[in-house]
Amino acid sequence: MNSFTYSAATSVQQAVNERSQVQNGAYLGGGTNLLDNLKLGIEQPDHLIDVRHIGLDGIETLPDGGLRIGASVRNTKLAYDERVRQQYPALSEAILSGASPQLRNAATTAGNLLQRTRCYYFRDTASACNKRVPGSGCSAIAGINRIHAILGTSNRCIATHPSDMDVAMVAFDATVRTQGPKGQRAIPIAEFYVPYGEDPAKEHVLEPGELITGVDLPATQWFRNSHYVKARDRASYEFALASAAVALRVENGTVRDCRIALGGVATKPWRALAAERALRGNKANAEVFRAAVEAELKAAVPQSHNAFKVELAKRVVVQALQAVSTAQAWRK
Ligand code: SF4
Repeated sequence: MNSFTYSAATSVQQAVNERSQVQNGAYLGGGTNLLDNLKLGIEQPDHLIDVRHIGLDGIETLPDGGLRIGASVRNTKLAYDERVRQQYPALSEAILSGASPQLRNAATTAGNLLQRTRCYYFRDTASACNKRVPGSGCSAIAGINRIHAILGTSNRCIATHPSDMDVAMVAFDATVRTQGPKGQRAIPIAEFYVPYGEDPAKEHVLEPGELITGVDLPATQWFRNSHYVKARDRASYEFALASAAVALRVENGTVRDCRIALGGVATKPWRALAAERALRGNKANAEVFRAAVEAELKAAVPQSHNAFKVELAKRVVVQALQAVSTAQAWRK
């Protein structure tokens, strides 16, 4: 592990100012991912700026009924917030399906958004990896790729995005709020993660020194009808092989609106727009749900060890949609 210096900021502006004076610095939140990566030699900042105590640890109800979640809000606090459980149940379920209680107690909202992949070769500095060392090659494409992506891949990188929380954030049309040397920005989460393309080391649109200050969730009434389903290799403390966050607005048996996002199968939290288009205006039943997710997975490009994810993703989505649809019918 390389040596580094440390300072603790007391305000957002101080953190951003300090970061702009350091060439190779990083912000430190919960540290549950960054500290692992420091120990593995994957990330080697010269200076860490602690942003845990700069006033970003609250969850605020916005005037329209939406929520503003501070960047330093711990995953546990967010998952158990009563407003989140009522208005965005899939978000609470997604967080609670990830990591262990100890990790959720430390991990933050912003850190979750910026999680790095758990590709084995990315975490092994002896392996070629375009994401860790641009231009060095991708060991996973001809290697063991059972956990890797089937959507959004490029010939440079096939790594999955590891988060559960972000899948629900994408389904709910969250907005990522930032502050950086050039001022503040509000970035729709659909534009936050970038396709791998030629440079898989670039994962999001944040500019150097730009700090995530929070996440806004819209006040969409029917997001209450939502659910998260996750398939994984063991019952606890494991990343998704395939997961889905879905929300449905069904009237008289017809899907009036919907949101579907996939995890564990793509290079970023994956909004399933083709599936959503296939659902809207059609009957809410298992055949329609299956046809919709078939439309989305047409674009899948399986690797040598992960073709099973195509069918797994379909079943996860159908299961999630059926659960929401049934629950909504029971509530009437
Ligand atoms: Fe690196 Fe991506 Fe290839 Fe994994 S899949 S070895 S992260 S380039």
